[in-house]
Amino acid sequence: MDSGLQRELETKVRSGERLSYDDGVALYATDDLVWLGELAHEVRTRLNGDRVMFNVNRHLNLTNVCTASCAYCSFQRKPGEKDAYTMRVEEAVRLARSMEGEGLTELHIVNGLHPTLPWRYYPKVLRELKAALPDVALKCFTATEIHFFERLSGMPASEVLDELIDAGLESLTGGGAEIFDWEVRKEIVDHDTHWEDWSRIHRIAHGKGLRTPATMLYGHIEEPRHRVDHVLRLRELQDETGGFVVFIPLRYQHDRDHDPRNRLQDRTTMASGAEALRTFAVSRLLFDNVPHVKNFWVMHGLTTAALSLSFGADDLDGSVVEYKITHDADRFGTPDKMTREDLLTVIRDAGFTPVERNTRYEVIRTFDGPVPLRERRAEPQPIWA
Ligand code: SF4
Repeated sequence: MDSGLQRELETKVRSGERLSYDDGVALYATDDLVWLGELAHEVRTRLNGDRVMFNVNRHLNLTNVCTASCAYCSFQRKPGEKDAYTMRVEEAVRLARSMEGEGLTELHIVNGLHPTLPWRYYPKVLRELKAALPDVALKCFTATEIHFFERLSGMPASEVLDELIDAGLESLTGGGAEIFDWEVRKEIVDHDTHWEDWSRIHRIAHGKGLRTPATMLYGHIEEPRHRVDHVLRLRELQDETGGFVVFIPLRYQHDRDHDPRNRLQDRTTMASGAEALRTFAVSRLLFDNVPHVKNFWVMHGLTTAALSLSFGADDLDGSVVEYKITHDADRFGTPDKMTREDLLTVIRDAGFTPVERNTRYEVIRTFDGPVPLRERRAEPQPIWA
């Protein structure tokens, strides 16, 4: 990028002028990663100061049985496969209770598209989880699952959501988005929930007062222009509804054991740490109407996650004890759990102030800020994967 365009983009960002598709493509093409990070950090600091938010949550997957075979997914199992499972309602409640300690505030629940489970199962699980853990927010289901429930129940999404909200649903998850551009999507997604239905369902959810996340699966066969298109679609929807609370770039993962279900690994490498930082920075700059950008550290490793806090991210996913979808695909030895103290150390070591939040991004507690560097070096620091 020539210096004239750099200055032009700086001026736009600093004056609050919205960046265009071409601007986004140009930002991805720059070789000057430090400049890009500084620009994104300015915006991140303007919006969120030196705070890094986190929440204490657990991930729960009710079933890994799925009728679809998405090309990036190591989690899916077909009915009858030896490690296919589906939890009975009591099992889900028992597992959730076992995760309850240490101030759990959120359960994050996503599942395969099970071909024979009845619709009634899902509100029943939510109702019983809510009865067992009344103070824990239930953030459940992707738009893909809600679309699936429409057919399963014979009800439109609005009624599906009403019933789930009545049973305790507080937020949808942001999954199922992947990459919306059809040129890429038709190669990687094996269900029929695409932009039209994904956006329709989030629009309905926002209309009911739910605030939802939005994700993007990057670092596979897509090109930077597809990422720009993805974010701009979401930005336009956000102009309309204001219901997205956070954007979450998710890095595509190869499988530790080269699971053949994850078919994309034969066609692509994974995004490097630098590409991850670039993606966080450009996302922060383009998505000017979403308050938060989250790094789900399990997919990036803690070093890249900590660096991303200076490249636009202001939210780290919390103390994840069990998240099978990602854990099955992680070949880097990245730990799959972190305590609150671990997380505080990572945030402070990166120079930020940790803030615990709830599912709606309301502040629960602000912790002490970063420890001065001299004091930090008095003790050996952990080297995070
Ligand atoms: S990503 Fe979801 S819908 Fe696709 S195969 Fe995996 S579990 Fe099924």
